[in-house]
Amino acid sequence: MRFRRKSSEISFVDELPDILIKTLMSLEVESLVLIPGERILFQSSGINVFGILKDERIINEDLMALIRVVRRTHETHRGSLEVARGPIGSGKRELKVSVTPLNDEGMVLILLADESEARRIDAVRRDFVANVSHELKTPIGALGLLSEAILGAKDEPQEVIRFASRMHNEAKRLADLVQEIIDLSRLQSSDPLQKAFSVEIIDVVREAVDQAQFSSEQRGITIEIGDIENAIVIGDREQLITAVHNLVENAVNYSPENTKVSIVTRRNGDLAEISVTDQGIGIAEGDLNRIFERFYRVDPARSRMTGGTGLGLSIVKHVALNHGGDVKVWSKIGVGSTFTLQLPIAEDEEGKSE
Ligand code: ADP
Repeated sequence: MRFRRKSSEISFVDELPDILIKTLMSLEVESLVLIPGERILFQSSGINVFGILKDERIINEDLMALIRVVRRTHETHRGSLEVARGPIGSGKRELKVSVTPLNDEGMVLILLADESEARRIDAVRRDFVANVSHELKTPIGALGLLSEAILGAKDEPQEVIRFASRMHNEAKRLADLVQEIIDLSRLQSSDPLQKAFSVEIIDVVREAVDQAQFSSEQRGITIEIGDIENAIVIGDREQLITAVHNLVENAVNYSPENTKVSIVTRRNGDLAEISVTDQGIGIAEGDLNRIFERFYRVDPARSRMTGGTGLGLSIVKHVALNHGGDVKVWSKIGVGSTFTLQLPIAEDEEGKSE
């Protein structure tokens, strides 16, 4: 953890005992020392990622309220804060916070630790067990029944072939499902903003389209890359490609043959938007707010036919939220759908990387 001294307030810094500075520097958690007038004397550099500071001021109301209580009572108070991971979307961080009075003049020490990681790992474990028991039982049951059917039909080669090919399909389904559950668990247990890299939107789109080329050609669907406004976002390139790829695959899977799927990207204020539009079957309004749930399918039979697992969109949603972004959908039955992935841009006005 790097430690930052604020040069403008160096006189205050000098008033702080060396031993406090060294202690703060050795802590695993992030720290802030605040004096009245809400001026920051010290801040550990990792604190910026929490989004509670802007222009060297605390902008989180809950934290300010806690500080006021501490100043009034002259006692340490602990609590938790929920802060947004990015400017949009419902992605949250859960911070554990403690505020301690350092003197009678209102100087306070704020310690912050990110609890999201521990919570997420817990959730991953719980979800994984639930998913496995729920979703894997069906294909495993089917495999059991089919193997019995083969044994029963061992003298009828045609029947054996029929059952064996169904077994093959079920086994493939099972493999796909297991892979997606593993992908989703990995996503839930990683924070792409912690080992963040600059990723170019245009690169993500090209790669995702390349990966969908084979299945779209097979179904006679043209994927068209339309207007592309490039932008740089911070995050995990592979995860972003997976998210866009899932949107493109869905657009292909839920469209009739000989239609078009198009992708455009644009900058909208602080957001980079990637939109995937199809001329497919569309989604009824009542289903729109459920399709991002794990294993939710509007038409399970159709989803099964195209090799769907019901996890694709929940993976997209996870990637979006983990990156401090979101995913939106517009759809009309019989007309088509547009899914838009929104991600915070990591550039300044001139388009240069920060
Ligand atoms: P699946 O593996 O079943 O495709 P997803 O999580 O990717 O699962 O999508 C959930 C459901 O949302 C799908 O089963 C389908 O009913 C609906 N859906 C997703 N994308 C589209 C689309 N582009 N057009 C129409 N329906 C869609």
